[in-house]
Amino acid sequence: MIETSFAALPLAEPIQRALIEKGYLHMSPIQAQAIPVLLENRDLLACAQTGTGKTAAFALPVLNRLAQKTKPLGREEVLNLILTPTRELAVQVAESFSTYGKFMKISVGLVHGGVSPLPQIRMLQKGLDVLVATPGRLLDLYNQGHLSLASVQCLVLDEADRMLDMGFIHDIRKITKILPFNRQNLLFSATMNPEITKLTATILRNPVEIRVTPEVTTATKVTQSIHFVNRESKLPLLLKLVKRQTATRNGDLSLVFSRTKHGANKLAAQLNKAGIQADAIHGNKSQSARQHALNRFKAGSTPVLVATDVAARGIDVRNITLVVNYDMPVEPESYVHRIGRTARAEASGRAVSFCSNEELDLLRSVERFIKQSVPVDTHHEHHDEVVAERHHQKNLGHNSHRSGNAPTSRPAPKGKVIATKRNRKRPSMLSRSI
Ligand code: AMP
Repeated sequence: MIETSFAALPLAEPIQRALIEKGYLHMSPIQAQAIPVLLENRDLLACAQTGTGKTAAFALPVLNRLAQKTKPLGREEVLNLILTPTRELAVQVAESFSTYGKFMKISVGLVHGGVSPLPQIRMLQKGLDVLVATPGRLLDLYNQGHLSLASVQCLVLDEADRMLDMGFIHDIRKITKILPFNRQNLLFSATMNPEITKLTATILRNPVEIRVTPEVTTATKVTQSIHFVNRESKLPLLLKLVKRQTATRNGDLSLVFSRTKHGANKLAAQLNKAGIQADAIHGNKSQSARQHALNRFKAGSTPVLVATDVAARGIDVRNITLVVNYDMPVEPESYVHRIGRTARAEASGRAVSFCSNEELDLLRSVERFIKQSVPVDTHHEHHDEVVAERHHQKNLGHNSHRSGNAPTSRPAPKGKVIATKRNRKRPSMLSRSI
């Protein structure tokens, strides 16, 4: 069993004191797995979301090394560099360093765009133990000669997927080329995709890999269903669903998930063309454009929001009663996050997933991840029986040489959508009821 008490860790006394003052006694799963290996100077690849305690997972080992530091800081020198995609996250991370390093003599600095660079330049002149920065502004200041990165001992890329989604890949590559070869590298990402894997291969050296999966909590108040359709039928089906939703339930909001940024833009345009007010949010849009779209959505003036997974993270809007997975999620964990956007607070909601022939494997991954089969809704004119049957056959084939725990989903009787209840322990019961 992994020891989870902070007291058992070889962390310096001032850090232990700060943790006690904060009331943290036990490590979260990501901390219990990451901190011991980071204290041994290993590189780390961690798949974890905000809310898992990931910030302390990297901040405490960084602080521990600073506690053993003997040399005074040189002018413009930076010892630890934390890169984040947004200003908001940078502020939060810097605050965490200040909190956990409260009883240490350390300097923590913050560099991000959107504000005057002059105070940042003055701060950099004195040197920093920890610099938390967004990539663009950091590079600007570096190119103007305001800081040295030659002494960086540790690089942390926080929310790397979001950084890539926001187009920071070139900046990240430029920054890593400037850094000294001998350093520790940590990469945190909520999702893994081929782009992240490529980045990982060039930056991390023999990393320890950790994956903290969110608890499987497919909200009980969410009625889930699968619509088997061919690709061409997705748009007409979406228009029907959304029109019905806005016509029957005034003030209710619909959130539609698209796999790509381009797809999100296109869908929003198609909805608008059909007379349904819609906006798109994704990583290519500026922070203020996204906030604007979110505000209009919350206010109900655009009752439909089309989003990519990364952009939708953290959306907490009360009146979302319909979530549509226009594209099946590539990461099965995303399914749980997506459908969790509806049925907030005491409300109930519906999560409808469109699955085409090309997406059957993705559906299978989702069903295995949530340990239940999603009921099939055949009660629409776009139902594709061929795709439904292929899904059924795939599951049968799969189950015939597996333990029998994997879900099977037979189409529900025509016209009936069965609400799925959370059933983590006995998935087969649910399969039988469908
Ligand atoms: P994060 O995922 O880093 O954004 O952290 C999520 C929240 O959990 C923050 O409010 C942290 O202050 C808090 N937190 C982190 N680690 C612990 C812990 N071991 N015990 C209690 N709370 C924690």
